[in-house]
Amino acid sequence: MVILKTSGELAKMRRAGQISAQALQVGGEAVKPGITTGEIDRIIHRFILSQGAKPSFLGYGGFPASSCISVNEEIIHGIPGKRVLKEGDIVSIDVGAYIDGYHGDNAATFACGPVSAEAQALMDATRQSLMAAIAIAQPGARLGDIGYAVQSYVEALGYGVVREYVGHGVGRQMHEEPEVPNYGRPGHGVRLVPGMVIAIEPMITQHSPALHVLANDWTVVTNDKGLAAHFENTIAITDDGPVILTQP
Ligand code: MG
Repeated sequence: MVILKTSGELAKMRRAGQISAQALQVGGEAVKPGITTGEIDRIIHRFILSQGAKPSFLGYGGFPASSCISVNEEIIHGIPGKRVLKEGDIVSIDVGAYIDGYHGDNAATFACGPVSAEAQALMDATRQSLMAAIAIAQPGARLGDIGYAVQSYVEALGYGVVREYVGHGVGRQMHEEPEVPNYGRPGHGVRLVPGMVIAIEPMITQHSPALHVLANDWTVVTNDKGLAAHFENTIAITDDGPVILTQP
């Protein structure tokens, strides 16, 4: 069941979204050659607590950190730890904050120092596909329109769309209905109505989107070791159009 939010609930979700976005920003600013992903996670963790919020991801399904940090061929669900970032890495950070009964959820891929033109192009296209999807998330549009917006944008550039993992509703639970795929057919699927809150999160691969999960049972990687990028915002559907809740 899709749970619609009242304007009072959306106000609370704006705060959760704001802290989530600031945590992402703080994490992104920490991305530099020589830092470990574990250190970045600790910076994010401390920031979220300093705002009076809780990290949504910590302990979720047993996840051991406050953020997912996925490097290069890692698509999502990377576990922060001893890995030292190198110049040229691309680093996807996914983080959510919980406050006053509601979650926010967002992600972005950051360049670690100068990166290859190919890596930059993949990151730019993934961000643009998210923006294209948000722009059409108007009341009356359907989830298939959102998926198609992402898919058509990135596939035209030769990139791959991950299908095994999708966006989702957000609210009192970090993952609510509906599922929000990054592929689809225009005019099909659940209709968007005011009060819906969804996380749109394209996970885009440089080459094939074929993937597998590492032995740690979390980290999702491309089979061909091609790069992956991931951008996500939590969006409220309103009478005035889509509103990005995850804004710093
Ligand atoms: Mg999400």
